[in-house]
Amino acid sequence: MDLKRDESGRLHIESPLMAESLMDTQLLASTETREIFRPLPDLNVIKLGGQSVIDRGGKVLLPLLEEIVAARPNHPLLVMTGGGTRSRHAYAIALDLGMPTGVLAKLGSSISEQNALMVSVLLAPHGGVKIGHDDLVKLPAYLSLGAIPVMHAMPPYGLWEEPAKVGRIPPHRTDVGAFLTAEVVGARRCILVKDEQGLMTADPKKDPSAKFIPEIEVDELRSMDLQDLPVERAMLSSLSRARSTREVLIINGREPGNLTRALQGEHVGTRIYKKNKQ
Ligand code: ADP
Ligand code: MG
Repeated sequence: MDLKRDESGRLHIESPLMAESLMDTQLLASTETREIFRPLPDLNVIKLGGQSVIDRGGKVLLPLLEEIVAARPNHPLLVMTGGGTRSRHAYAIALDLGMPTGVLAKLGSSISEQNALMVSVLLAPHGGVKIGHDDLVKLPAYLSLGAIPVMHAMPPYGLWEEPAKVGRIPPHRTDVGAFLTAEVVGARRCILVKDEQGLMTADPKKDPSAKFIPEIEVDELRSMDLQDLPVERAMLSSLSRARSTREVLIINGREPGNLTRALQGEHVGTRIYKKNKQ
């Protein structure tokens, strides 16, 4: 980038994007780069499922928090929280009242934040600290103090959530929020803690013949177009476009030790990964 003085003596910044609409496809392609700066390449982003984990109360949540406390000295991590059944109740009432998607997204956000509050209070004796979205850039400082940062996982689209392809449920919920958080800080992996073994060919709660899928490339999974999924479809498209974080694990938080093993880099549950396209 150069500074250029015009005839009147005024200084201008000559940049490659000046006077562009930022819509030209060739210009957009020219902004690709081989490597993106990753502030926290060793970070593990752990999302505790709202419905699948937190709503089950102490029996499921507390042993997971113990695993997080034990792992923290050896692993940089960020705990994120889903919304769960209370979000579903709020969505159902809002739908009945004819609310637009953006209002539903706002409701979901405050419920996942309630869960972040409870999880951070439970972790407080061990350095648990609830952080807001604006605090994300302070994560390295929190981690160097030995803290366990907890943030709610609903992405901040809020009232500006885009309408869904089908229906009115916000398409970007807490799986997407957890993954995009991992991506922007360049985290190692995003671990979604849920209540089943991982990804199956169908919902195991409805179809007992569903088969377990231990590992799958994200675009392959998208092209399977499964009728039901344990993760948001929008999270799969985010992973498919990701530049830094290239894998998501879905693990069963009801099995003790799974989270610890996942943090140690083991392949537990289902690994959904993005193929290197170069
Ligand atoms: P969370 O509370 O973590 O967001 P959800 O309840 O939204 O979790 O999603 C996880 C649930 O998705 C599982 O408990 C399972 O019953 C269901 N599910 C639907 N389709 C599948 C599938 N293909 N494979 C595995 N689980 C599935
Ligand atoms: Mg969910």
